[in-house]
Parts: sequence; structure tokens; C-alpha cells
Amino acid sequence: MRFHTYAIEMRTRFRGITRREGMLAHGPAGWTEFSPFLDYDARESASWLAAALASAERPWPAPLRDRVPVNCTVPAVGPDRAAEVVRASGCRTAKVKVAERGQTLADDLARVEAVRDALGPDGHVRVDANGLWDVDEAVAAIAALDRAAGGLEYVEQPVMDVEDLARVRRRVDVPVAADESIRRADDPYRVRDLEAADVAVLKVQPLGGVEACLRIAEQIGLPVVVSSALETSVGLAAGLALAAALPELPHACGLATTSLLTADVVAEPLVPVDGFLPVGRQDVDASRLAAVAADAETDARWQARLAEVREVLR
Ligand SMILES: [Mg+2]
Repeated sequence: MRFHTYAIEMRTRFRGITRREGMLAHGPAGWTEFSPFLDYDARESASWLAAALASAERPWPAPLRDRVPVNCTVPAVGPDRAAEVVRASGCRTAKVKVAERGQTLADDLARVEAVRDALGPDGHVRVDANGLWDVDEAVAAIAALDRAAGGLEYVEQPVMDVEDLARVRRRVDVPVAADESIRRADDPYRVRDLEAADVAVLKVQPLGGVEACLRIAEQIGLPVVVSSALETSVGLAAGLALAAALPELPHACGLATTSLLTADVVAEPLVPVDGFLPVGRQDVDASRLAAVAADAETDARWQARLAEVREVLR
């Protein structure tokens, strides 16, 4: 299987990066994506490659739905821009980035208020702190944000440590979602054992693939939100396959992230219509892939990385 390296500029700085890089390959079952973030070492990238190979080699589980409700993602931008992002998306759920380094709680409150105004009273507002608060900060911020939002759907990963997550959950009324505590943990089931969360965020690549995520969903016993790892539409399709195969899907999924990238590799990128994305395989468009092909140096770096991660998987 030949892996093609892409490099795509991001529209807004997100997760500290301004350029998304990764690889795409075509296997017996279809196109697949391998795109661990650049700060992940070979050991941590192994589950990403396992996921990529599984999607290329085997059909996904049978879908139980043909479209998936999705949220729009609001980066740590000002309130006017935040409102624009929500309105342009057509989504009824918005996930708002909070606790960004270099910003204050006042910035977060203004952003969340603007998002609520743009969504109207019947939309859902969730926030994601990516583990950047400590316990006391989290408890205070969550109460303030819940008021500013006129009710939060949930707060995602308010603190990094899973024990702290359990502590925060016992001190706030807003439901808590675990993301990093599942996908970057040695034991994703600590969240369940400590009763540290109300919602489990699952991401296909970091957790080893669609089938591996279905097993985790069953074992962890919490409602699941499927989120992307900022992939192209090829990677997002695997997330949609997972969301489509889950027995229950009570929340919108975080898979409408292609708008964070300035380009995509399929003819019709996965942009939500009326807040939904379609389920199914995505085929790479040759000219679009050529347009985002990485330069020789970037490609060589990724080919070396792929070889190194393959060694870990062996
Ligand atoms: Mg998150």
C-alpha cells in the first residue's frame, strides 16, 4: 500500500498548530488516513496506524443510520467571529474552545455568550478546556460558563488528570465529558472505574480503529460522542462509520472539522448540511490530492515516521 503525504494549512490556529500533515493510502476496503500529530512519538502513533490499516483492509461495521448529527467547532476567537462560525455552520450544537493559554475567563465568557445568541435558546453549547484548568479553576469557570451559556450541554476535559476529573465532576452540576483521559490514557477504563465522566469522547485513530472504538464504547458504558482528530474527509469518514454503528447516539458528534482546514482531498468535502454529515466511504480526488501533496522533505519525514511506527506495531 502506497502512502501519500499531504500538508494542508489551517484556517485558524487550533490545538497549537497552523498546518495539518498526514498520509493517505488506498487498500482493499478503500481509502484511509494516518495522521498522528507531530508531537506524538512512534509508540503513541501505533494505534493511529492500526486504525488506518484496519480501515484500509476491512469493511466497516454495518451502519445503523445513514447520517450523523454534528457540532460546529468554535476556536478561541473573539465573540463576533464565534457567532459567524456558528451561523455559517447550520449546526444546532456548538463546541466552544475555552481555557486557551494567553486568554482569560472573560474571553471565554464573551465567546460562549455570543455562541448562545447565535444558536438561539434550543441549541446546545458545550465547552472544551483540553485539561488546562486545575480543579478549583475548573469548578469556578464551569459555573460561570454555564450561566453565560444559559445552560451547558457538557464540559469536556476540564482538567487533565483522571482523578481530578472525578473530583470536578463531584463538585459541578454540568455533565463532564472525558476526551484526553480516554485517548491518551494507558487505561481508558479508569474514567469508568472512578466515575469521572458522564460522556465518553472517542476518536477513531488514537483509539485503534472503528471496531476497537465500538468495543470501548460497550465496555465503558457511557454515552459516546465521536470526534475527529482534525483529519481530511477520508479520516472523518471513519469517525462517521463509528458514529453510524453505535447502538445509541444521544449527542451531536465532533466530526464537522474540515472547515478548520483550507483544503480537502475529496471531490465533495464533508461539510454539514442542516447539522448532519452523510455516512459512507470517501474517495480521494487525484487532482485535489496533488494540490496538497507535501514537498519532498516533508514526505521523506513522514515515510520515515511510518516505517518507525510500523516497527512498533510489529
Ligand atoms: Mg477534546
